[in-house]
Amino acid sequence: MIISSAKPFEEVIELLKDKDDIFVVGCNACAAKLHVGGEPEVLEMCKRLEDEGKNIVGWVIPSAACSVASFDSLVEKNTAINDAKTILVMACGSGVSIISGIVDVPVYPSNNTESLGGRSQGEVIPELCAMCGDCKIYYFGGICPKGQCPKRLLNGPCGGAVEGKCEVDPEKDCAWELIFNKMEKKGRLDLLEKVWTVEELSE
Ligand code: SF4
Ligand code: SF4
Repeated sequence: MIISSAKPFEEVIELLKDKDDIFVVGCNACAAKLHVGGEPEVLEMCKRLEDEGKNIVGWVIPSAACSVASFDSLVEKNTAINDAKTILVMACGSGVSIISGIVDVPVYPSNNTESLGGRSQGEVIPELCAMCGDCKIYYFGGICPKGQCPKRLLNGPCGGAVEGKCEVDPEKDCAWELIFNKMEKKGRLDLLEKVWTVEELSE
């Protein structure tokens, strides 16, 4: 799941200064699950923009803004997009990029894209993977130190954790304590004996 958050409304209004006839595109995948691009948020955005004097020509919520096939597929869902002079996309940067690529009018983002995370048992986990392109997560029990340790340490903890909390971000559990506990439970502490090289560390 791509983690994105809503820009302050004042920033959205500033982006849309001197723009009108706005069509809003949401996203029924990550952004909807995070409550920053689903139907309630799209309708709320339309209302707030109208309250600011903007003309909203319509809105649509594709199943995933990052995989909209064509302009015609948006027209099929709402022909009002043909009247748009401006498009506001309530999705991550991938969604904004895809929509920008298939329309001819200016496209603006309402969200800030933050990280690759996930959601489990009702909890959003903002940083799970740093998208390094060479996945080694198996060696760490499914807890990636590149994504979850602020120092990206692959050869063990920095030693600064206090009562299991990270010294860089005390709100978070130390990733290396989680890794050790998980590997101990799995009976695979042997995997942690591998020493990662400078080349591997820099990937
Ligand atoms: S090693 Fe970590 S950062 Fe790299 S792809 Fe795997 S989970 Fe993502
Ligand atoms: S306390 Fe743990 S998670 Fe935080 S930087 Fe050190 S090793 Fe990484």
